[in-house]
Amino acid sequence: MYYNEETIIFYNGEFVKVNDIKIDLYSQSLHYGNGVFEGIRAYNTSKGARIFKPYEHYKRLKYGAEVMNIQFDYSEEELTEITYQLLERNGLKDAYIRPLITTGADMSLTTSTKANLIIQCWEWGKYMGDKLLRVKTSKFQRPNPNACFVEAKVTGHYINSILSTNEAKQEGYDEALLLDMNGNVAECSGANVFMQKDGKLYTPPRGHIMAGITRSTVIDLCKELGFYVEEKHFALEEIKQADSCFFTGTAAEVVGLQSLDDYEFPLEWEQSLGYQLMKEYKDEVLGLRTKAKAV
Ligand code: PMP
Repeated sequence: MYYNEETIIFYNGEFVKVNDIKIDLYSQSLHYGNGVFEGIRAYNTSKGARIFKPYEHYKRLKYGAEVMNIQFDYSEEELTEITYQLLERNGLKDAYIRPLITTGADMSLTTSTKANLIIQCWEWGKYMGDKLLRVKTSKFQRPNPNACFVEAKVTGHYINSILSTNEAKQEGYDEALLLDMNGNVAECSGANVFMQKDGKLYTPPRGHIMAGITRSTVIDLCKELGFYVEEKHFALEEIKQADSCFFTGTAAEVVGLQSLDDYEFPLEWEQSLGYQLMKEYKDEVLGLRTKAKAV
């Protein structure tokens, strides 16, 4: 699904066939989860492949490398240029892009002085599908911000996402909602959360969550469309009184929730602000909104 023998990746300054690369079995990323990555989307538009917010994603990648003390000197501009070339070499337009910085062979617990840049991409349809999600509150909490850099996409952090998704799926749900260390609603395993109550939208503030690029795009869209949106903490009891709810993420885009545990969100999805934002977001990623405005 992700690659075949013709697939080209970018590896340490070169475009190479994926099967020509050997990974280092002594890499700190493999042993301790010390690596940073990104998840980016490219969309097929009338003007060709369009990568959505590449600078923002590469800025976050560079931030992750910095806080983990990983040596990484590429600029956002260089990385964006390389990524467009990579899409072209693989003949991809609708794609998911996965940049990954791995650390070198080093069994100590200080960051290796060597790092590798890998950029992979593959054909991408919709991640969660168009159907509304049945979500379970996870027994796992999001990591404590005093234990790690929660805004950095560090590979090792994703154990928490895997545990909570496994738990949800094993119990027949589609996805997991995680609380933070104070018992407030935090986010989904790989997406941010918004709730709608009495015509207003609420989303948890930064600090205990991933600062999602889709989340900030949606907040900007709300401001533009005149929707009330507030960043504030809310408890599980409050979200279970909401009229509607949705997740946001690069992969998920904007996706509505049908239920949380045994609570069914009462507002028809098509009547919700989330539904309107889902449609606006689809236009935004394709570059249609700015075009519409310019005409
Ligand atoms: N939360 C978590 C834990 C994530 O991994 C992601 C995906 N990066 C998000 C939220 C959504 O972030 P974005 O909108 O930047 O994809």
